[in-house]
Amino acid sequence: MNVDPKRTVAELKELREMTGDANGAQRVAFTDIWVRTREWLKAKLAALPVEVHTDEAGNLWATLKGDSPRALLIGGHMDSVPNGGWLDGCLNVLGGLEVLRRICAEFNGRPPVTVRLVDWADEEGARFGKSLFGSSACSGSLNMDEARGLRDRDGITLPDALKRMGIDFERVKESRKELTNAAAYLELHIEQGPVLLDLNKPLGAVLGTFGVERHAITFRGQAAHSGSTPMNRRRDAFLAAARMSEEIYRIAARSGNGVCTIGSCKTEPGIVTSVVAECTITLDQRHLDASALARMLAEAKKASERFAKEGGVEVEWRRLWQIEPRPFHPELIDMCDASIQETCGISHRLPSGPLHDAAEPCGVGIPTVMMFTQSLHGISHNKIEDTKEEHLEQSVVAFDRLASRAMEWVTGNS
Ligand SMILES: [Zn+2]
Repeated sequence: MNVDPKRTVAELKELREMTGDANGAQRVAFTDIWVRTREWLKAKLAALPVEVHTDEAGNLWATLKGDSPRALLIGGHMDSVPNGGWLDGCLNVLGGLEVLRRICAEFNGRPPVTVRLVDWADEEGARFGKSLFGSSACSGSLNMDEARGLRDRDGITLPDALKRMGIDFERVKESRKELTNAAAYLELHIEQGPVLLDLNKPLGAVLGTFGVERHAITFRGQAAHSGSTPMNRRRDAFLAAARMSEEIYRIAARSGNGVCTIGSCKTEPGIVTSVVAECTITLDQRHLDASALARMLAEAKKASERFAKEGGVEVEWRRLWQIEPRPFHPELIDMCDASIQETCGISHRLPSGPLHDAAEPCGVGIPTVMMFTQSLHGISHNKIEDTKEEHLEQSVVAFDRLASRAMEWVTGNS
């Protein structure tokens, strides 16, 4: 029994036709187009002997009951950012659908272990600025107090938007019961970066999602007249901040696989005729290894203190957000790698810079792995997001092989 990867590509195109426009995909979560997308998906699932329901957090589950209640989960997200690409998220749901079809056919509707496809609700967080909504509600990591107050651009709160979808915000964490028998979690996704493209490799086995440290760093000096203040008498907050800009490249280089970004810079008084009195930059640091991430953060703090001291300014750090690295399961990584080798003759192991829903089941101890498909241009969250059809087809075949291996592994472990 084999998957039909061409059918997945055809369905991806059908979805693009139905939910995209000249600016890209428009499947923003909790909108009419997203609801229509789900109806379309449910119609496809109706052809299979699966039980379909939506949980308390709005995640859609399709369950193929097996001899064992222990379940292999395959997850993805049908939602997109506004003006998004045609593959982000939905490649996995539709690839997973194809895998589910193959398993149904091969085992006559009754595989040895239960297999479940999940379409997580609002992975992107495009409307409320909170990504991984459905999966974090399900894993229990969602911060209820913070989420309760989120508003979209029109002032509508997240609980109100959910209510319109028939979802009671106060009960979203009851979806946790869906994970009761979860024995493994698999997710296929486009890479959204240039690593596989630069290596000329179609697919990669993902080692885990990066841990993230996100901070605001404020340097405080003194405003002074730009004409009357000699250069040696200045306490220039911008100079100290600017020296961080080069330093983070050295810190990242020393860390191995880590990345650092200064994404914003705000100056006060922010006028052309004054030395900068106060400068706030934001620093985003990511690494797959927790101790390496801690070292990157410590080095950045030390450098900021040195630059502050040398420039006669003060420095203050404020943490904006943080998440631990989520390393995936070593045996599943090996299975993923082997499935890619078998399909493409070549493989690669790489960490994931972006967060994905997979981080949530992984965070509650469910053995997890992801497979990446090469992204052309190394670009995503953009209508130009694309992948060669040949690579899309290979990804469905390799992912199906991974699902077979994972099913055997789950059976052997039960
Ligand atoms: Zn995605």
